[in-house]
Amino acid sequence: MPLMKWTKFFIPTTKEVPADASVPSHQLMIRAGMIRQVVAGAYSYLPVGYRTLRKVENIVREEMNRAGAIELHMPAMHPVEWWEETGRLKTVDVLLRLGPPGDEDWRSRVVLGPTHEEVITEIARAYLTSYKQLPVNLYQIQTKFRGEARPKSGVLRTREFLMKDAYSFHSRKEGPGGLDETYQTMYDAYCRIFARCGLPYLVVEAESGPIGGDASHEFMVPTEAGEDILVEAEDGSYAANLERAEVAPLEDSQDGTNAPLQEVHTPGHSTIEEVSGFLGCEAAKMIKTIIYEAEGQPLVALVRGDHEVNEAKLARAARVSWVVAADAALIQKVTGAEVGFAGPVGLNARFITDQAVSIMHDGVTGANKTDYHITGVNPGRDFEMKEIADIRMAVEGDRAPNGSALVFRKCIEVGHVFKLGTKYSDAMKAHYIDTDGKSKPLIMGCYGIGVNRIMAAAIESMHDDKGICWPVSIAPFQVVICALDLREQEVVKVAEKLHDELEAAGVDVLLDDRDARPGFKFNDAELIGVPIRITVGKRGLADGIVEITTRHDHQTQKVPPDQAVATVRRLIDDLTPNCPLKKGTGTSPDGVFTGASGSTLGASPLFQRTPKA
Ligand code: ATP
Ligand code: MG
Repeated sequence: MPLMKWTKFFIPTTKEVPADASVPSHQLMIRAGMIRQVVAGAYSYLPVGYRTLRKVENIVREEMNRAGAIELHMPAMHPVEWWEETGRLKTVDVLLRLGPPGDEDWRSRVVLGPTHEEVITEIARAYLTSYKQLPVNLYQIQTKFRGEARPKSGVLRTREFLMKDAYSFHSRKEGPGGLDETYQTMYDAYCRIFARCGLPYLVVEAESGPIGGDASHEFMVPTEAGEDILVEAEDGSYAANLERAEVAPLEDSQDGTNAPLQEVHTPGHSTIEEVSGFLGCEAAKMIKTIIYEAEGQPLVALVRGDHEVNEAKLARAARVSWVVAADAALIQKVTGAEVGFAGPVGLNARFITDQAVSIMHDGVTGANKTDYHITGVNPGRDFEMKEIADIRMAVEGDRAPNGSALVFRKCIEVGHVFKLGTKYSDAMKAHYIDTDGKSKPLIMGCYGIGVNRIMAAAIESMHDDKGICWPVSIAPFQVVICALDLREQEVVKVAEKLHDELEAAGVDVLLDDRDARPGFKFNDAELIGVPIRITVGKRGLADGIVEITTRHDHQTQKVPPDQAVATVRRLIDDLTPNCPLKKGTGTSPDGVFTGASGSTLGASPLFQRTPKA
């Protein structure tokens, strides 16, 4: 076996970090020589980075195989026609097309896949023609392309990334072989994957977004670098993405005098801030009236001036598949006024009133007349509320549906599972013949994991001021041997022997054979985050020992060289995230949510230390 020596490997650690690297994972991956940017949103993985990426990928692959999914590989290039069939050519804004629409050139007929529902559904349409072939769950680990508007935070959000995507096909929803069963199996596999990668994760109810479908859960890692907001009930009974989070109805404060309607001149004042400043009323006293286009029809949303419309909730309440903010022309058509003066009084359109508006008294709103507002607006008295629903974003101070206070946390989405139903099989006519001889659309689920993002999320949750603290399961090397005093034959002999024995024992070991000062070597080992360090030095050997230090707690033990391998193996076992196969541990899609403190993760020593943000 050739020695894995630092001087023969490629580990370009550096002190220089680009100015735009603001989050810890981005800074540390560059400093540790793991990645190098090629263009905005695309990175080379240098050897140390690639080792970890491959380890994450292997864990994902092992667990998918264990869960009965079957690996295949699909290309990044897709024909535009299939994206037209599902209607997503229009709705997926990150879709990258090789040539401009309408051009004769072949490039105009090709897109780069941001996800593979179209390609897999075409395969299913071709081959899955009988109930006898179902269920089947196909997956790949493959490069995705997305025209993200703002690639940022290193490999957390890039335009080219590695995704594990799985797609299941069924003849039924419930029962053996049904979608619900595979969804649960994937859900459990995801819990095992994130636990094995050492991630402190949570599972939340999610909005299914442009992928569509009727149920979905997201796997989240709470950290400051995250772009998602997790909303949790203080009593642990509820957790959801802010895009989805429901709130308990507010109570009527009965703070009104049943004031009469009065038109007021508000020239040039159209925003909530301008009008509330001009009239000297709180934003919470205003009724914000927002016009949308919903499946081609106007739809008006009413929320309190200090609240924001949640468009996903609005679409659900209105029972439409999409809503987009109306353009100025539609707003003028609906209100008869310039933009900024819309209000519900006398408005002839479908509108949905948020629950918090329904209990307002003496509110202020637009008069549907340019430069005018009205005061003394009492919902119910001054406009009829045919549809009242929860259509706003949760805010600090809100309560969960069961009454417990809501708290907000930033987090990173690392995985997402969806029950798609027949959305894609209907659109692409992927039908099978059922037991009754009838042709029916395939029932589908899909399940995604961001492989690179797991790596960055692990660094975000596990690092300190010296560098990365990898969980042993995905560390680029599990052990680094720092050989000090390289001119001493005995040091070199012991270090090389330990290297060979560890390697023979299946341990990923790197021998730091650089002719450098101990502090310099230790700093690099801590920067790249190797969980276990063995220090072999002249003085220690004279005392008959080598030192074994664990990265995350800086604990050192002195052991005779011939006990080092056994000690290291024990440490690796102790540090490997504990993840029993027993079903039912961790989380369940039936209950709303079980936190990372559940039995799956709580058992691991990695989670007993407080990660530094
Ligand atoms: P986001 O909301 O962060 O844009 P998404 O919900 O669009 O992500 P999905 O379509 O659910 O992402 O993709 C499945 C998984 O792929 C995500 O859970 C995430 O881990 C990963 N992923 C998505 N977009 C990116 C990206 N731009 N860079 C790296 N990983 C990504
Ligand atoms: Mg998602």
